[in-house]
Amino acid sequence: MSTFQDLQLLSDAAYYDRCNYVNYNVDNILKETDKLKDGIYHAKAGNREVPLFKILMTNQCNNDCAYCTNCMKHKYQRAHIGPDALARIYMQYYENNIVEGIFLSSGIIKDADRTMEEMNHAAYLLRNKYSYKGYIHLKVIPGASKDHIKHAMQLADRVSINIEAATKDGLSDLSSTKNYDKDILKRLDWIDRLHKKNHSLASSGHTTQIIVGANEENDEDILNRIDYLKKKYNVLYNYFSSFRPIKGTPLENHEACDNKRTGRLYQMEYLFSKYNFTKKDIVLDDNGFLDLNNDPKYNIALENMDKYPLDVNTAKYKELIKVPGIGLKSARRITHLQKIGRKINNLKQLQELGVNINQCKIFVKVGGSYQSTLL
Ligand code: SF4
Repeated sequence: MSTFQDLQLLSDAAYYDRCNYVNYNVDNILKETDKLKDGIYHAKAGNREVPLFKILMTNQCNNDCAYCTNCMKHKYQRAHIGPDALARIYMQYYENNIVEGIFLSSGIIKDADRTMEEMNHAAYLLRNKYSYKGYIHLKVIPGASKDHIKHAMQLADRVSINIEAATKDGLSDLSSTKNYDKDILKRLDWIDRLHKKNHSLASSGHTTQIIVGANEENDEDILNRIDYLKKKYNVLYNYFSSFRPIKGTPLENHEACDNKRTGRLYQMEYLFSKYNFTKKDIVLDDNGFLDLNNDPKYNIALENMDKYPLDVNTAKYKELIKVPGIGLKSARRITHLQKIGRKINNLKQLQELGVNINQCKIFVKVGGSYQSTLL
C-alpha cells in the first residue's frame, strides 16, 4: 500500500475521535458528518473554522472495544505510519497552509507505553527537527505511564484521554481490555495534577470523549459523569461521539445513536459550563433521558414556572441567562440598559437585543406587564 493509501486509511480511522467543541446549537452536531475530508477536520475556534490534520499513527490495536473500527476483532486493512514520515508529511500540509494544527491519536502498538513513545516522538520531531510552534493535540493512551504522559504534555498544547463510557459497568460492556479506574480515571488525575503544578504542560487544557448509545447508559449517567469529571479533574470539554454500528465489529447489529441525542447532551453540557445550570436542574424522562424534541433550557424553564414571568427591566444577569431565548450576549445587553436607566417597553426592543422572542415570550414581562402576544 502507498503512503497516500496509508494516510487515507489512518485519517478515516480517526473519524470518531472528537476534537471540536460542538456548541449549543443542536444543528451543528447534525452537520458533523460533513467535516472530515482527506484527513482534514474543520474544528471550530470561536467564529472561525480551523483546519486540523487528524490522524492515527496506526489502526492496529490490541484492545477489543466493541464499537471501534480498530478493535482487534475487526478484520480489515491495517496500516501504520512512523514518526518520521508523519512529521514530514504534516509539515508539507502545514507549510502549504492546508492545515493549522495536528490531532494525533493511535491504536495500541504492542502496549500503551510503546504507542505513546511513537506519538511523542512524532510530536518531538515537529517541535525540534522542524521548529514547529503550532497547535498539537495528543491523545493519551489508557494505561500509559506517568513519564510518557508528562512528555506528551510538554510537547502538546492539549491532551485528551477518552473515557468512552459514563460508568465502570458501561465500559466493561464495551471492552474487556480497559480498566476504567486504573487505565483511565487514574491517568486523568495525573494529567490534572501535572497541569495544576505546571500550567505550561498541555497549556490549552485536557478533554475527554464519551461514545453515546453503544451501551445501556442513559443521559442521566452521562451527565452525572461529565459533571464529576469537570469538578474532580477540571476536564475542559467532554466530547460526545454518536455510536454507529460498523460491519465486522462485535456491535455491528446494535442500533445507531440518534445524533439528536448527542446534540441534546452537548446542549446540556453547555448549559452547565456557561449558564450556571447544575445537575439538579436537569429535566429527564422516566427512563433518565433528555427530551429529544425540545431544548433542555426550555424544559427547565417550564418546570420552574413559579419563577416566571420575569421582569426584564429588573431581573439580574444570572436570572436572565436562564430564560429560553436569552443568550449570554443578550443578557449582557439587557443588564447594560438597566445600568444606564433605559427601559425595555416591548418585545420588539428585546428582539433588537438579540433575544429569540418566540422562545422567551411566555417567560418574561416587559414594560411592567406580561406581553406574550405583543411584538
Ligand atoms: S483502544 Fe479501543 S477505541 Fe482505541 S483504537 Fe483500540 S479498539 Fe479502538
